[in-house]
Amino acid sequence: MKTFRGGFHVPDNKELTATAAIEQMPVVTDYYVSLSQHIGKPAQPVVNAGDEVVEGQLIAQASSFVSANIHSPVCGEVVGVVQRKNAQGANVECVHIRSNGKQDKFAYPKLSEPTPQQIVNRIAEAGIVGMGGAGFPTAVKLQPKDPVDSLVINAAECEPYLNCDNRLMIERTQEFLQGVRLIAKAINVHNVYIGIEANKQEAYAKLLEQEGVIADTKEALQNRQEDDIVVVLLKKKYPQGAEKTIIKACLNRDVPVGALPAAVGCIVDNVGTAYAVYDAVVNGTPLYKRLMTVSGRGIVNPKNLEVPVGTPLSAIVELCGGTTENTTKLVSGGPMMGFSLVNLDVATTKTDSGFLALTDKEASTVLPTPCINCGRCASVCPMRLMPMYIDFYTTVGDMENAIKYGALNCFECGTCAYVCPAKRPIVQSVRLTKMKAKEKK
Ligand code: SF4
Ligand code: SF4
Repeated sequence: MKTFRGGFHVPDNKELTATAAIEQMPVVTDYYVSLSQHIGKPAQPVVNAGDEVVEGQLIAQASSFVSANIHSPVCGEVVGVVQRKNAQGANVECVHIRSNGKQDKFAYPKLSEPTPQQIVNRIAEAGIVGMGGAGFPTAVKLQPKDPVDSLVINAAECEPYLNCDNRLMIERTQEFLQGVRLIAKAINVHNVYIGIEANKQEAYAKLLEQEGVIADTKEALQNRQEDDIVVVLLKKKYPQGAEKTIIKACLNRDVPVGALPAAVGCIVDNVGTAYAVYDAVVNGTPLYKRLMTVSGRGIVNPKNLEVPVGTPLSAIVELCGGTTENTTKLVSGGPMMGFSLVNLDVATTKTDSGFLALTDKEASTVLPTPCINCGRCASVCPMRLMPMYIDFYTTVGDMENAIKYGALNCFECGTCAYVCPAKRPIVQSVRLTKMKAKEKK
């Protein structure tokens, strides 16, 4: 099995939802649809208070090259544009929609034999962004300045607890593969890989049953046809699903510090993104719902749910039976790269792959102590940084040296903080330095 240098074996806790079939989130009363569900400028609202909207209707338009359209997740009436906290604690503008129980839907015209440019245009219209968490507008990603020869689909899903990509590959295999082929057509490449971690044997087997999909073995590669998709089985190790580590594992290419995957001739897209591309091109459906894993031993009935964007987390938790008494931590996303929440008064976005309620046995509440210079953080860092120095210099307010030791090159995987015996808050230090550097810029 292929992998990368560094990283760490983290217990995956996926058994809570690994076999839970996808369920639909029922309609709730109020939706708060963020205008900032992507990297780049917030979308510009095109609806006003009192307007009636239908499911899938455009409610906010991309406001610059790096931005994305937003569509209504439900039929209802626009109450207004309001300020709400997002999962990161920042104030964001949201379109508040109150559902009216109707079931009308808007869809773009279906495209049966689209050209590469038509695929890219549809992805932009449908507001598709990287659904692995980054939220980079996909149409922009698929028009790189550098020439590309390979597409890697990130099916590692290395974050503990999460299973939404895994279930999608098992339950919607052909639709997912159609999305992969549409992306490959949009960027005109034939070298297509799906990198999947070894803990997803059911999805791995299901993919290999499909026509035009082969394993990354010597025998299979000898008979490879031009359009065959190669499924690469990856060692279960965190953070196998980071862009740079999955490129290293699948293609043995090193993305230079500060560069994008296109610099080494590659585009990386996530499983959910590929499915959203299928849905937008083949069915004309814009991106306004996504799969989420709701898990952790603090959730009474953990589930894999298909959830409209803008759904309050409180409604999702209620559907899952609520939280147990010994819940000590609420997390938006996975436990490694997610964000701790202070309450459930947050609505979902296009990039939310999960929500966790962790009990006192699962979540560490130990306070940090001084660094003991053991070097463990540096030995596991996949970017070969010196996390202890980043943390030290941030703590003493020396941002220049924190940057010198690589704060801006860190992709916040959290492996260093996980292995640190002193429980140093290294990722928070990195985020603080990045924020200060951005302010200075
Ligand atoms: S320094 Fe950044 S990239 Fe390196 S292990 Fe820590 S969080 Fe991950
Ligand atoms: S792992 Fe923690 S204690 Fe060890 S060197 Fe890194 S920051 Fe210091």
